[in-house]
Amino acid sequence: MRYISTRGEAPALGFEDVLLTGLATDGGLYVPESLPHFSVEEIRSWRGLPYAELAYKVMYPFVEDAIPADDFRKMLGETYSVFSHQAVAPLVQLDTNEWVMELFRGPTLAFKDFALQLLGRLLDYVLEKRKQHVVIMGATSGDTGSAAIEGCRRCEHVDIFILHPYQRVSEVQRRQMTTVQGDNIHNIAVKGNFDDCQRMVKESFGNQSFLGGKTQLAAVNSINWARIMAQIVYYFQASLALGGPDRSMAFSVPTGNFGDIFAGYLAKKMGLPISQLVIATNRNDILHRFMSGNKYEQHQLEHTLSPSMDIMVSSNFERLLFDLHGRDGAAVKDLLERAAKGPVSIEDYRWKHARKLFDSDAVDDKTTCDTIRDIYEKNEYLLDPHTAIGVRAARNCRRDSTVPMITLGTAHPAKFPDAIAESGLVVKPQLPAHMADLFEREERYTVLDNNVSEVQGFIAKHWKNA
Ligand SMILES: *Cc1c(COP(=O)(O)O)cnc(C)c1O
Repeated sequence: MRYISTRGEAPALGFEDVLLTGLATDGGLYVPESLPHFSVEEIRSWRGLPYAELAYKVMYPFVEDAIPADDFRKMLGETYSVFSHQAVAPLVQLDTNEWVMELFRGPTLAFKDFALQLLGRLLDYVLEKRKQHVVIMGATSGDTGSAAIEGCRRCEHVDIFILHPYQRVSEVQRRQMTTVQGDNIHNIAVKGNFDDCQRMVKESFGNQSFLGGKTQLAAVNSINWARIMAQIVYYFQASLALGGPDRSMAFSVPTGNFGDIFAGYLAKKMGLPISQLVIATNRNDILHRFMSGNKYEQHQLEHTLSPSMDIMVSSNFERLLFDLHGRDGAAVKDLLERAAKGPVSIEDYRWKHARKLFDSDAVDDKTTCDTIRDIYEKNEYLLDPHTAIGVRAARNCRRDSTVPMITLGTAHPAKFPDAIAESGLVVKPQLPAHMADLFEREERYTVLDNNVSEVQGFIAKHWKNA
């Protein structure tokens, strides 16, 4: 399988190179040149497969040029055995035909583990083969950093440096990053805010000379194709568990960077009967505003009770725009260059097509809390604030009550105790047993000034082969 850039100018690459590259050289994102398509009969034959085996069926077409089947199977077996539930992505029923898919049974209690546990293993496999080493550099305001660190902790060919804003991430989130022990793991607390961290990462990708030409930087944010790929699987898993592919399903997806829901869109294109996809956002609602009024416009960032969805622009939306424009890279490039300067719209028929593919809703903090409280009072089930937004949007946008509606449960409620408290519940969400001692574990991190040469100097000094 070959991968092409959404801006049409960068060279097509194979899976290995796409894995190791961040942005394409033309500033675009990589997408498969064509998608595999599965028949209803074939999908039906997967009913009852263990998660890792289903993952093999869904993903192998994307990697077959780079990884022999047996090796990929083994890697997937290892990846999904670290989850703390036998079903890996269990479904919990909320009401008649209404479900939450719990995607937070991985090591860091958020859905990002599904992709990052695999990404770490994929990187190490490919780098071992190539006798290469990479340095991962990323900025985090919470979930991505810990999931990336957990995913790479056993990698022999990867050093990982994660920047977080000093004293500006929650204690659970910080501890999830800083208590992971390993010579290749480096946490940097920058005396600045998240934007400062992100700017330093961007600048470093732009000029990697501080690494002395000896290695290259790799990206772990959701612009990396491998992350999207891994997220396609659980749409198939949920559908098969509830009678698919012989009936269609609806999904509601708490959305930030549009990675998770884009995976659902791909599952549908690959043959899975999905009748509805709901984009659920918080007050940072650029996607909902676009879907409602065909105006794509950045607003000021708002801090909400669902911080993992606090974004101004959704990077993966570019991958959808590419399809909406008939895969015309030049048109996407032009559109996004204009979008960086001010509001843009797309042709009406393209926008109408987008509205056929997706419904959307934006949920504010108060309604998020009301939903957490309501579901707890009716079901004694605690939702985290991100999942609560998904559940609320699902209810607001639902079209057909005979179709199972599945909300993606993106995080464990114990990661966000403040939102639970704010919803007026006295119950305190408990960390799962395997993390109960998080607050006693030893932390390791380095505090640095808000200064890119200081951060780069630290990285240059500490990566393994320096
Ligand atoms: C990352 C994240 C999201 C948003 O996912 P995208 O793929 O960026 O849309 C939602 N909820 C939680 C808990 C997350 O960590």
